[in-house]
This record gives sequence, structure tokens and C-alpha cells, in this order.
Amino acid sequence: MSSRKSVQKCSFCGRDKAEVLILIAGIDGHICEICVDQAHDIIKEEVTNKDTKESKEFNLPENVTPQRIKHFLDDYVIGQDTAKKYLSVAVYNHYKRLNQHKELSTNDIEIEKSNVLFVGKTGTGKTLLAKTIARFLDVPFTIVDATVFTEAGYVGEDVESMLSRLLQACDFDVDAAEKGIVYIDEIDKVARKTDNPSITRDVSGEGVQQAMLKMLEGTYVNVPPQGGRKHPEQKMIRVNTRNILFICGGAFDGIEKSIAKRMNTQVIGFKADEEARIDKENLLEYISHQDLKSFGLIPELIGRLPVLTYLDPLDLETMMNILTEPKNALIKQYQKLFELEDKKLEFTRDALELIAQKALEFKLGARGLRSICEAILTEAMYTMPSQEDIHTLLIDKEYVENQIKTSKFNFLKAA
Ligand code: ADP
Repeated sequence: MSSRKSVQKCSFCGRDKAEVLILIAGIDGHICEICVDQAHDIIKEEVTNKDTKESKEFNLPENVTPQRIKHFLDDYVIGQDTAKKYLSVAVYNHYKRLNQHKELSTNDIEIEKSNVLFVGKTGTGKTLLAKTIARFLDVPFTIVDATVFTEAGYVGEDVESMLSRLLQACDFDVDAAEKGIVYIDEIDKVARKTDNPSITRDVSGEGVQQAMLKMLEGTYVNVPPQGGRKHPEQKMIRVNTRNILFICGGAFDGIEKSIAKRMNTQVIGFKADEEARIDKENLLEYISHQDLKSFGLIPELIGRLPVLTYLDPLDLETMMNILTEPKNALIKQYQKLFELEDKKLEFTRDALELIAQKALEFKLGARGLRSICEAILTEAMYTMPSQEDIHTLLIDKEYVENQIKTSKFNFLKAA
């Protein structure tokens, strides 16, 4: 018996029992866990390839309407009503279009893709909106940063690598990825730097915009599974981007100037009250495709991002609501952490107001809230678990002031 055991080998790779974790016995041979894994990959790839040939229908969640989509967004994103409406309609139409493709006959009107562009200051919820909509639809989602891309042939990443990330997000399920959402952050950073494109080659700007065009519109792209640059030895995965929804976001710092200039010219000749109605504080709400062109996006790219909307800057009230209202609001998260220690954490209104005020001062949008809360609560989170006799911690304005004073938080000061 023992001599038989010593010769047990995997019948596929020849490794003997000592080299593997598990050797599964069959009627006339054995297989090790490594070969099981490989066999699984082969089967998955074969099945996926078959599936993509006859793409499955995408079903929106039941009884969905743009209004329902917006209600869902309301649970997670505070304010930003205009952006939410635009996004809800765009997504609703996008997925209706997806189902239309199956029945399309030659005479039908083909609904075009409605990729979205969000313009808004940093930390106002652009990424959060994209992330939340992907959660609603239960489709693969990835966030990529436009600044890492370069034109093919230069050092940096090819734009195709954004699809590698999407594939990785859904465990290389090509069919799922082809219906996913890609959020491209900092799209404003690939704007053409000067109005004259021909003097020097603009490696990170116009070239990247050009490279994105086909992908945004819909084409077959050969994607390197591990991302990065294309290596000849990597086996490419073919992905059709026709049904992938691209959502781009950017702060477009300084674009207000071009909006103001355009508005001024338009306002001339109008009645005075027409001019008065323009909200000078939030010029972004008047953004148009024309302004994007002046900023340095090429018209072809602008054309592929037909849904253009803006995010409002966050004011004190909104900041306070962001702290407490969303389903997974920061304060709720900290309260949960304390609850796990059988302790209660409470905040007074003026404490919340001060936190929101500080976040506004640091000009990081709602992103600043987290670092401020960490600075304020770290000491308590450090000491409370060992203070068995204390059951409730009330954070008031004074507590916040003291913690901000004693923490190293001032280093965070933004421009
Ligand atoms: P950006 O506009 O720069 O993409 P994000 O969406 O990444 O900003 O937001 C940064 C952080 O601030 C996120 O953690 C998000 O939870 C929070 N946040 C920003 N805006 C909102 C909002 N309107 N409602 C709720 N949370 C928000």
C-alpha cells in the first residue's frame, strides 16, 4: 500500500504528491489542484467566447424608470439634482438601446450611445455618482485616470488598459464587461494645452484624446489582460466597446472664464433682468460643448460625450448633510465602529457644522470630511476600547476645536 502511495503523480502535469497540495484520484489516474485550476480557466474561456458570439440580453432591474434611478442615487449622493437627472436618463436610454440591438432590422432607427461628461469641482460627487449607478445596475465598473494614458508608442499606458481594468473587475467575464461602465477621471487633464496643435507633438494631450475616440464610440479592441503596454507574448482578449457606457469627469479649472465670456456676448442685447438671472457664483451650470472646445477638448471627443452636465459646488448645508444622510454616511460609519465596542457616539449640531466648515476651508470638497473626522476621532478610537466605564461619547464643538488644534491636521491645508 505504502509503495503505491509513493508513486502517485498527477496524470496531467506529472508532479508527484509531495509537490502539490491535493491529488484527486480518478478511475485510472490523478489530477492535482494546479491542473484543476488550469482546466477551469480553459473551460471558462471557451464558454465565454461562445457567449460573446451571441450576446445575452441585458435586463434592467424590474419596473425601472429614470425617476426610480434618481431615487436610488438620492440614497447615496446628496444634492446634485441636475447631474442625477441627466445620468438617470442617459443610463435608462443606454440600456434600452442595448436591448434594442437584438431586434434591430435594417430600417430601424438606431439609438446612439449616450456617454456622459460630468464637469464639477473636486470632491463634489462625480466618481460617487458613477459608482452608485454601477451598483444600481449591477454591472462591472472601473475607475481609470486619464492622466496615466499616453498615445501609443510612448511611455505610459495605452488607453486599451482601461478595458483590462474592467475585465479584471468582473473576473474576465467578457460578456459582462461589454455591458459595464468605465469612469474616466480627470479627462480635463488631456486637454490640448495650446490652441495650435501642430507646433510640437502633444504626447499626453491630443494624442490620448484621439486614441479614445474609437473606444468611446464602439469598436473591437484587443485588450492585454494584465494591462500596461501590449506585450507580444500576452494573449489578447477581444472586447466590443459598443455597449460599454463611458462616464467622464473633470474639474476643468478655469473653464468659468470661457463660460463667462460666451455668456456676456450672448447677454448683450437682452433685457437687463435676463442678465440678472445668471448665477455668477455657479457659472458651471451654463456649460456647453463650445466651452469644452475652448478648453482644449477636440470636437470629435466632445461629440462622443453627448450628455454634458455639471455638479454644484458644495455649501455648508450640503456638507453637513453629506456627513449624516447618505446610507453609508461618514458619521453613521463611525457610530457603527463605536457600536461594535458597545459604545454610543453622538455629535452636536455645531460640532457637525464646524467639521463641515473646516472641510470647506480646505477646498477638498467632501473628500476633506473624512480626513477631518479621522483627525478628530482617532484619539477617542484609541482610548475608548480600553475605557470600560465610559459608554457614550458626545462630540461637541469644543471637542472638535481641541482635537483639530492638537492633531497634525493643519498640514492638510490646501491651496
Ligand atoms: P469627485 O467629484 O472628485 O469625483 P468623489 O465622488 O470621489 O469626488 O467624492 C469624494 C468623497 O466625497 C467620496 O467619498 C464621497 O463619498 C463624498 N462625496 C462627494 N460628494 C458627495 C455628495 N454629493 N453626496 C455624498 N457624498 C459625497
